[in-house]
Amino acid sequence: MDKLKGRHTPLRRSLWVVGVYLLAGWLWITFSDYLAGQWFPDPEALSRVQTYKGALFVLVTALALFLALMRQFTRDRSMLSLHHHQREEIRELNQFRESVIERANVWINVLDPMGRVLLWNRAAEEISGYRRDEVLGSDQIWQWLYPDEDERARIRSRAEEILRDEGEVVGYETRITTREGEERLISWNSRSLRSEEDEIVGSIAIGHDITDIRRAEITIRQRERQLSTLMDNLPGMAYRCRYDEHWTMLFVSSGCRELTGYEPEELLNNHRVSYAELIAADNNENILRAVETAIGNAEPFSLEYPVVRKDGRRIWVWERGRAVEGNGDVLLEGIILDISDRKTLEDELSELATRDPLTGLFNRREMTRLLDEEIARAKRYGRALSLLWIDFDHFKAINDEHGHAAGDSVLKATSALLADSVRSVDLIGRFGGEEFVILLPEMDRSEAGEMAERLRRLISETPQPLGNGRTVPLTISIGVSVFPDNGTDSQALCAAADRAMYQAKSSGRNRVVLAPLAQQAHNP
Ligand code: GH3
Ligand code: MG
Ligand code: MG
Repeated sequence: MDKLKGRHTPLRRSLWVVGVYLLAGWLWITFSDYLAGQWFPDPEALSRVQTYKGALFVLVTALALFLALMRQFTRDRSMLSLHHHQREEIRELNQFRESVIERANVWINVLDPMGRVLLWNRAAEEISGYRRDEVLGSDQIWQWLYPDEDERARIRSRAEEILRDEGEVVGYETRITTREGEERLISWNSRSLRSEEDEIVGSIAIGHDITDIRRAEITIRQRERQLSTLMDNLPGMAYRCRYDEHWTMLFVSSGCRELTGYEPEELLNNHRVSYAELIAADNNENILRAVETAIGNAEPFSLEYPVVRKDGRRIWVWERGRAVEGNGDVLLEGIILDISDRKTLEDELSELATRDPLTGLFNRREMTRLLDEEIARAKRYGRALSLLWIDFDHFKAINDEHGHAAGDSVLKATSALLADSVRSVDLIGRFGGEEFVILLPEMDRSEAGEMAERLRRLISETPQPLGNGRTVPLTISIGVSVFPDNGTDSQALCAAADRAMYQAKSSGRNRVVLAPLAQQAHNP
């Protein structure tokens, strides 16, 4: 309606202007003639006045016409330039739209209702391999993209459905065959195009090439499956946890059950128990420190520590992990293995390596190591330390008289008696044959001498079992050296004690001799 009204406006306005002009002209002529007739009765003067009057009228109307035309032309010109501007903008908009379609990295095509190609953008060319000039205006493309007849029929009927209904499809996937014969998976969004009169004039389809994405998805799924198979078959427990004081588990593999005795759900998010609760408190401190250091150095960490299982059994575990970034938080990922068997074996081996098999006392190597340790401690804290060097008297005779096995029995029984007769902080070892060494931490010379004397008397008063029900009397000779008077290292201390022991032997056996102090050594 507005449009129709607008179309009549110029005519109406023109008629209105002409009407006003005619009325004004008629009024002017009528009134001016009447007034001129009144004022100028002389016909000659009247005719002159009429001429001026006519000229004035022409002048006034010419001026009015001039102003009106000026106004109109000015308006026309600005309208024209506005139109030009709008046309330019529309052209640019169309170009922009075309270039967007052209440059889009998605396949865009427009088909007419017969399935013939009306528009085929560059991405469509690149993905399908078919050029625009090959496909425009024909429906040949259907055969090329879908060589399989049944498949083609199925997809075409779906496309026709879209055309018929107001239908719109989103994410409809088809497998096309490219010009090079390669198969590609395309996900389509498509809808019908309608004219102003609401007739269907075609359809537009936008295709995403999801071949690579789908392949990647499949690869990721396969990897996930592999990973979970791997994790479930690992000998221990794989985990991901928060770096907090509870070691809050965010993921644990099914190996959790065997390792800790807890179901994974019981451990996850500290639901029933936190992993930290399975670790003894003093160990947790050390673990925290080791993990902290590893994170600081951006290195993985390896730990060994005991864990208490759900059934109360204590096991040793080995853990290796590293820090990873997860949503801005520091997380830890790694694996925990039960190494109790290895630990037991290690303990047995170290027992074997440090103990004398016959008596169960420390062997010579371990005893030397312990002596070094004790000397270091005595030095650090300025404390005393004494050493007893013991040798059985005439032991060869026992062997000769009762046999080697009986000699062994005596060795075992005597060493057990000696071990039972010292303090718990004292260290006793077999140095070889029937020679024994006892370390007495924090004992000075006179205390050590008293201790040695006590041991000597005890052995001499206690007949030793031969293992056959009978016993044999036994005496021992003891040399005593003290730190630091007789030496400040293990070699010197041992040598001094050994010398003192030989002195005991040479002065009649079954006695204790203290290694001489420096003055006495110079001045025997
Ligand atoms: P003494 O020390 O009083 O001079 O006389 P001894 O007979 O004890 O002499 P020595 O200490 O030199 O000899 C040690 C003897 O101890 C030699 C060896 O027959 C015996 N012996 C050493 N080791 C063992 C052992 O493991 N088992 C047994 N049955 N005898 C051993
Ligand atoms: Mg001896
Ligand atoms: Mg000996």
